[in-house]
Amino acid sequence: MELPYVILKPQKESALKRRHPWVFSGAIQSRHGKPKSGDRIAVRTASGDWMGWGHYTKGQSIAVRMVEFTGQAPSQNVWINRIADAVALRETLGLIEGEHTNACRLVHGEGDGLPGLIADWYDGVVVLQVHTLGMLKEREHLTEALRHVLGERLKAVYDKSAAVLERHHDIEHADGLLWGELPAPVLAKEHGHRFEIDVEQGQKTGFFLDQRDNRALVGQFANHKRVLNVFSYTGGFSIAALGGGATEVHSLDSSRRALDVGDRNAERNGFSKQHLSIEADALEYLRQHAADYDVVVLDPPAFAKGIHAKDAAIQAYKRLNASAMRSMPKHALLFTFSCSQAVDEQAFTRAVLAGALSAQRTVQILKRLHQPADHPVAGGHPEGAYLKGLLLRLD
Ligand code: SAH
Repeated sequence: MELPYVILKPQKESALKRRHPWVFSGAIQSRHGKPKSGDRIAVRTASGDWMGWGHYTKGQSIAVRMVEFTGQAPSQNVWINRIADAVALRETLGLIEGEHTNACRLVHGEGDGLPGLIADWYDGVVVLQVHTLGMLKEREHLTEALRHVLGERLKAVYDKSAAVLERHHDIEHADGLLWGELPAPVLAKEHGHRFEIDVEQGQKTGFFLDQRDNRALVGQFANHKRVLNVFSYTGGFSIAALGGGATEVHSLDSSRRALDVGDRNAERNGFSKQHLSIEADALEYLRQHAADYDVVVLDPPAFAKGIHAKDAAIQAYKRLNASAMRSMPKHALLFTFSCSQAVDEQAFTRAVLAGALSAQRTVQILKRLHQPADHPVAGGHPEGAYLKGLLLRLD
């Protein structure tokens, strides 16, 4: 099959040779074969050498997201092989059908050689979130590959891409089932705790799997403590803290719906008595009540949605952390996170420490925190490391 192709400017292939999977529009000399957004497209050097192929997006700074860095032409095998590799990693990690955990990120975009595709696994239910028109067009191929690789273990494939596609591309899209049947409710286990996953109405794919390791850590520090989980969503950190022996856990979020699911999760795990949901604005609540807790978790939504918003985001992290630290008791612990890709680990650490300074608190860094192994970072794509956090102890 003849693919449309781009020819790169001279010397613009070095990033691709290091397996960086993005071709920026500024690196392109010419386009051939009238490529449209979402098309598969080949990439050639200025001297005509074939570098591989990917998905094309018109009019955005990332013009091509590479799927293949070799001479292989597109075929169904590429999807099957990539998904099989991704599933094998999660099997090794014990996250597919584990006794304690059966929910994980099955495909982490560039980190699994599938740029533009997120797939989360909830005990047999796969929720897809495609970020590009290219992956949108591959949906049927991807579903077929998932069925091929997962076989009987697969219960349903649900497409949850509308919010992302509408934000990044000028198209209308409806979420919906691609294959199988959704259990009602969708349930999954993490560290032996049972969670309801709000696939259809919830945020992202329904649950925040990237905090699994950090939740376990909160559990380790929660015994006999009063814990405030700020930006709690459906209570992931709260349930972990309760499982770790917290005397009292408050889940704070601005979304009533998320809190209701969180209440059901607390009940499902036998923790209703020690758990309370609070519908409030994070900053306002912290200013008044941070003094009441031994452990505070701050896991806000991405403050920087893009690189242009980086400075404002850094200020927002500083302010948020300062408002918590200002009145937290002596020796209290703060677990603080950022999932903004545009704010790197160093910048985040500086922002949090600046917050401590303005709150007039001295802090110890007990641990630096990251995303878990089912959110891998491709060697050629350091941008894939997006989640960072700190565990701090206050003076
Ligand atoms: N920690 C969660 C994920 C957090 S996602 C987990 O482990 O599952 C971010 C959450 O912040 C969302 O649930 C969103 O509703 C909430 N949120 C956004 N802005 C807020 C604000 N100003 N005050 C309180 N909650 C807010």
